[in-house]
Amino acid sequence: MSAPVMTRDQAAAAVRAAVAERDAIQANLLARARQFVADHTTRAASYDQFKAVMAGQRGFLIAQWCRQAECEAAIKAETKATVRCIPMEMQTAPGRCVRCDAPSPGEVYFAQAY
Ligand SMILES: [Zn+2]
Repeated sequence: MSAPVMTRDQAAAAVRAAVAERDAIQANLLARARQFVADHTTRAASYDQFKAVMAGQRGFLIAQWCRQAECEAAIKAETKATVRCIPMEMQTAPGRCVRCDAPSPGEVYFAQAY
């Protein structure tokens, strides 16, 4: 009988190390993805700024929006940007729509369609 290549404890330790490495890689990827979004997100305080961002650096844009379909259609026609995400965790304060100044229940993410 030859000795086992790896003991049960060694195998368990190897699995734990692999799992820890996978978790570290995933945490790193998540952190990098969050940083990428943060680096490419601009908060637009005015529609002029909104249009300037969409004409230039692009990426994501956070702005107040009135939730009216015709307003989003106008934004899309003028900037090619559409609403991408109404963030659940980002419960921002109500404000005024960046484009039409109607009441907005909170900020949303916009991005251009490519
Ligand atoms: Zn609006």
